[in-house]
Amino acid sequence: MAKTYSIAIDGPAGAGKSTIAKRLAKELGYYYVDTGAIYRTVAYFLDLWGVSPKDIDNVNRYIDELTVGIEYDEDGLQHMIMNGMDVTGEIRTQDISQKASLVSAHPCVREMLLDMQRDVAKAHNVIMDGRDIGTVVLPKADVKIFLTADPEVRAKRRYDELIAKGQKANFETILKEIKQRDYQDTHREIAPLKMARDSVKVDTSNLDIDQVVAEIKAIAGKKIPV
Ligand code: C5P
Repeated sequence: MAKTYSIAIDGPAGAGKSTIAKRLAKELGYYYVDTGAIYRTVAYFLDLWGVSPKDIDNVNRYIDELTVGIEYDEDGLQHMIMNGMDVTGEIRTQDISQKASLVSAHPCVREMLLDMQRDVAKAHNVIMDGRDIGTVVLPKADVKIFLTADPEVRAKRRYDELIAKGQKANFETILKEIKQRDYQDTHREIAPLKMARDSVKVDTSNLDIDQVVAEIKAIAGKKIPV
């Protein structure tokens, strides 16, 4: 099999991972793999069955009934397939964000999803974003970026996004939820959010999208053809 390149982008919610990764993937002709969407799909499935994300016994039992698939459309956009159904739109709610964070702390869930993430990277050049890509999923990724920003900046971005979509939003609530997710994601026992030793930190608090893309391309360019 030909050598494939991988760029791992980890970081907390709202740091700009998906926006940046999508742009880079388009520019480089890589596949963009949004691993958060995979955990969201699991959370959505359990929610449909009325299973609490904290109820480990039922989480264990029900995920046996779940098949998660990733498909790409002609524009290179990732679609999440839950037991044959496209749930790409349904998984993007604040409620599912919180439930995904809780559900992703269970070892059985992480184990179930590990190979599928690695398989995509074996077959294609990828930019993969998540929380544990550089540390667990692709520890040998060619380029590792830890993308972060102040919680207030991240909350403001989410707030603006929701308002732009015509949805209701409360800044304080969003900030609280972001901090709660940060706490859960960094304090779980298995695959917690943390910077890999060989990762480069990029703080996006005072940078716009073009500046972040340029910075990551400069970092990546030292390791792989960009
Ligand atoms: O990135 P996104 O906000 O869509 O992720 C939703 C949740 O999924 C995160 O809060 C995190 O708990 C979990 N997740 C994870 N590992 C990843 C990606 C996401 O645990 N690689």
